[in-house]
Amino acid sequence: MPVNVLFSARPEQWPVYEPLLTKGLSQADLDFRLATEFEPDQVDYVVYAPTSGLLDFSPYTQLKAVLSLWAGVEKIAGNETLTVPLARMVDHGLMHGMTEWVVGHVLRYHLGMDRYITVQDGVWTPDAPPLASERNVCVLGLGALGEAAATALAALNFKVTGWSRTAKDIPGVTCLHGTDGLRAALSSAEIVVLLLPDTPATENALNADTLALLPKGARIINPGRGPLIDDDALLAALDSGHIAHATLDVFRVEPLPPEHPYWAHANVTVTPHIASETRPTTAAQVICQNIIRGEEGKPFLHLVDRNLGY
Ligand code: NDP
Repeated sequence: MPVNVLFSARPEQWPVYEPLLTKGLSQADLDFRLATEFEPDQVDYVVYAPTSGLLDFSPYTQLKAVLSLWAGVEKIAGNETLTVPLARMVDHGLMHGMTEWVVGHVLRYHLGMDRYITVQDGVWTPDAPPLASERNVCVLGLGALGEAAATALAALNFKVTGWSRTAKDIPGVTCLHGTDGLRAALSSAEIVVLLLPDTPATENALNADTLALLPKGARIINPGRGPLIDDDALLAALDSGHIAHATLDVFRVEPLPPEHPYWAHANVTVTPHIASETRPTTAAQVICQNIIRGEEGKPFLHLVDRNLGY
């Protein structure tokens, strides 16, 4: 019996992924069929993005695993019709893109680039920026993306503190965890980068109380997920000047509605969920590797803990 792999994502992704997945699966000694439609009870694996609209997995009675094309799985982790393993995307292309985006926006703040880009007023004020070794950056979330970003910032000599749920040991990064760890991490952070997943435990990680822990003039960069921030609390902290600026890539509602106060706020930069994306060439390899592992009876890689939600 062939292994049936259902590709369930945006239709325009199919022509991109189809040859890459075919090539990857053909390299294994595997009899497979790859399509965007099957009888549900014939499907072995679903390559999945929530944009497909597939929500009810109960007719997929032979399913062995769902392999997410997205790193963030908040839209599917709690799906009660899904009773088989769920793997998320850990992709080198995604990771490199996120690292570049984070480093770029940290350097924007660190070097005070806006002043020279937006104000060319003929006034010669030779204030050199400090060295990175004098700048405290805090990365909340030290998973695939957070660790990569923190490591890149440490390689540039930033003083990097990271925070995660469990204890970590990352060269060049002061790693903290737990509630006390968060307070310590935020208390000295001049720039905060959020790379936490969206789970019940991380919702409003930055709220009025935790924002108040930050030094006055701190800057926020959120490429994680919108619900990580209490928007009203952030707007209040921006208006009071406690937070100097925020760069936000992700929002509770996307696209961010035109009337949302973030768009018009002088101290907010909105980017339209472009910090990084799954790169088909590398991501297809990850998907194929997991299907092959499944067929060989090996444990799947990058499994989501459905209780934790990531
Ligand atoms: P991972 O699952 O690899 O890492 C998540 C990290 O968050 C881990 O370090 C984890 O801790 C930590 N964490 C989770 N829950 C808590 C908690 N309650 N308290 C403290 N720390 C916690 O995810 P990735 O690094 O791959 O991705 C992170 C997020 O980035 C994704 O979930 C997604 O939302 C977002 N993303 C955004 C994109 C964009 O374009 N804007 C693109 C891709 C992803 P521990 O290590 O101890 O488990």
